[in-house]
Amino acid sequence: MENHTNQSHAIPKWSPLLFEAVTKPGLIMKAYSAFHHYSVGNQILALVQCQMRDLQPGPINTFPKWKDLGRFVKRGERALTLCMPITCKRREEDSDEEHTFTSFVYKARWFVLGQTDGQELGPVTIPEWEADRALSALSIERVPFDHTDGNVQGFARKRQVAINPLAQLPYKTLFHEMAHVILHTAEGAFADDETTPRSLCEVEAESVALLCCESLGLDGAEFCRGYIQNWISRGSGSNAEAIPEKSAQKIFRAADQIIRAGRSEIDPVTV
Ligand SMILES: [Zn+2]
Repeated sequence: MENHTNQSHAIPKWSPLLFEAVTKPGLIMKAYSAFHHYSVGNQILALVQCQMRDLQPGPINTFPKWKDLGRFVKRGERALTLCMPITCKRREEDSDEEHTFTSFVYKARWFVLGQTDGQELGPVTIPEWEADRALSALSIERVPFDHTDGNVQGFARKRQVAINPLAQLPYKTLFHEMAHVILHTAEGAFADDETTPRSLCEVEAESVALLCCESLGLDGAEFCRGYIQNWISRGSGSNAEAIPEKSAQKIFRAADQIIRAGRSEIDPVTV
């Protein structure tokens, strides 16, 4: 998110957006049901802009895409800004080798349904999500739970996760452990019991679980929310920058990976 081309708009930060999602129950689910084709971060970004401008959340498309769908953008409507990845090439000075890398830019290119008019749209269906499909797409193996401490809800080791068959919130625990695999297990193993230290890694994993549980309507979001709010208020006082920007980026990315990996349809390319 270093590269910004759209100077006329304020550059959104992910940390305050995550703070919004954590502190306003229902926001994540609303964002997911309106914008599920887009990345989790962009869903929240779009919803917050709709709220600020009093627009009804709904399908969003670019100007040409609306035209393909038989609709047109109404006069005077201002586009919403989303973040899009771009592939850049860099040639090293002393060699012929070319490196490609991904950078992010913010572009004001999208319009929500309510900003357009024309042909009726067909019904919107939200694709189903399955845990086994997500695990296999992410090359994460679910192994039997062999921890002797019954307080442990689950653990992650390299690319393996195990969930206590008696876990109180099995989906929440699964998302939490998957997040550790995506973000942390290169650094060691994680066993999660009720007394796990409130380190930043835990807040990252729990935030991923919150985004996944609430988006998909699975039990556990309230528990995650309580945990994260508690952590935020113990830290620097309750404020929107309490979760570092870098962590917020990691959290949105990991939640997005988990949700996309488990869905029944291959997503069209969206940002
Ligand atoms: Zn953990």
